[in-house]
Amino acid sequence: MITLFRRSCGVLRSLSRFGWRSQHTNTVVQCEPGSGFSFGIYLFCVLTLNLYLEEIIPVAAEYDKMGEYPVPLIKRAWELGLMNTRIPESCGGLGLGSFDNCLIIEELAYGCTGVQTAIEANSLGQMPVIIAGNDQQQKKYWGRMTEEPLMCMSICSKPVAGSDVAGIKTKAKKKGDEYIINGQKMWITSGGKANWYFLLARSDPDPKAPASKGFTDFIVEADTPGIQIGRKELNMGQQCSDTRGIVFEDVRVPKENVLIGEGAGFKIAMETFDKTRPPVAAAAVGLAQRALDEATKYALGRKTFGKLLIEHQGISFLLAEMAMKVELARLSYQRATWEVDSGHRNTYYASIAKAYAGDIANQLASDAVRIFGGNGFNTKYPVEKLMRDAKIYQIYEGTAQMQRLIIAREHIGRYKK
Ligand SMILES: Cc1cc2nc3c(=O)[nH]c(=O)nc-3n(C[C@H](O)[C@H](O)[C@H](O)COP(=O)(O)OP(=O)(O)OC[C@H]3O[C@@H](n4cnc5c(N)ncnc54)[C@H](O)[C@@H]3O)c2cc1C
Repeated sequence: MITLFRRSCGVLRSLSRFGWRSQHTNTVVQCEPGSGFSFGIYLFCVLTLNLYLEEIIPVAAEYDKMGEYPVPLIKRAWELGLMNTRIPESCGGLGLGSFDNCLIIEELAYGCTGVQTAIEANSLGQMPVIIAGNDQQQKKYWGRMTEEPLMCMSICSKPVAGSDVAGIKTKAKKKGDEYIINGQKMWITSGGKANWYFLLARSDPDPKAPASKGFTDFIVEADTPGIQIGRKELNMGQQCSDTRGIVFEDVRVPKENVLIGEGAGFKIAMETFDKTRPPVAAAAVGLAQRALDEATKYALGRKTFGKLLIEHQGISFLLAEMAMKVELARLSYQRATWEVDSGHRNTYYASIAKAYAGDIANQLASDAVRIFGGNGFNTKYPVEKLMRDAKIYQIYEGTAQMQRLIIAREHIGRYKK
């Protein structure tokens, strides 16, 4: 199954250049002569994702309402090869590039961004190990994730001023062949479910030491003594995803679990954000597309003043605006992933994609609620959940404001050279 899925991902990539998106929009598949298009593999790929979406969509609202972690859906995604897609083939993963991975993420998010976030938290935890892990670390920590459906996570944020990564207070002190970690972290996705964590901590006790030298990254086993997991947070949206605070009290981590070396942590964390922001943008696009599809279907079925909603120009123009935004947001994450896969530094494009897709996901969810009228405000209809779920795309993986700071810095920097 996974081998076939791997092959079909290559087809996904070639199809995306020709307007393929998904079956929800009934887009006609066109193909460049000689592109190696195989209708059988294409069908397999679409069917795998659609099969999975058919399993997510009917149960998503219930998982959200109950705030229940979607274990059966995560297991199913793992079986289908939809998880751990960035792990190289040598360690049992699909070895997909950023572009292919984001196409899958967009589709999963179309089904439910809560379920998708629960699944994708793994990629966020794995990315620093992809960027900076040595052979031993990669084999050990990826291998187990492809052998069974385990979770991992990325821990950067703290209770105070999460935007200011350089202000992290969690401390790592070297003692013999170990580091002793103390501190508090907040808002950790999959916090209560992970098997291991990626952790960023301050290792230079001098508060004046520059961020570029003062931090170290660690891989931490979740069952290490001294780790206290907080209660599941009750969030506005994506309620089936598991978000928690974590306290580290004299947690001993062997020096073999340091990524690259002492002092390299901040640079790895920043490189990680460049790679993890495009997938977050892709998920926001999945949500936006869902909002557009739901709003369009609704407007095709409801009449006011003797006409279908769709026949009122005010509504059709609103749908046109929504379509423009979702297409542009998709292009923005695809550009950012293309830069990653081409080996270019993509900070500028990653932040543009994250900021733009996060904003339009919120706009489209709100517009969809508007088109649904009173029904849009009600839990029997799908769009109120989309509106609640959308908000987080302007917050996690760096807020909308922080992305603008980065874009401005990168943009102005080009002119100063
Ligand atoms: C559901 C959820 C899941 C999360 N998952 C994870 C996870 O898995 N791992 C992880 O490490 N973190 C995670 N986070 C944390 C998330 O990344 C932070 O919440 C986010 O970075 C913002 O930090 P903060 O909440 O401390 O806000 P603050 O930093 O306190 O910011 C508050 C507001 O001020 C603005 N602001 C701050 N500084 C500036 C400035 N210089 N200029 C202009 N505006 C500014 C911000 O944009 C924001 O609007 C998660 C958060 C949530 C809510």
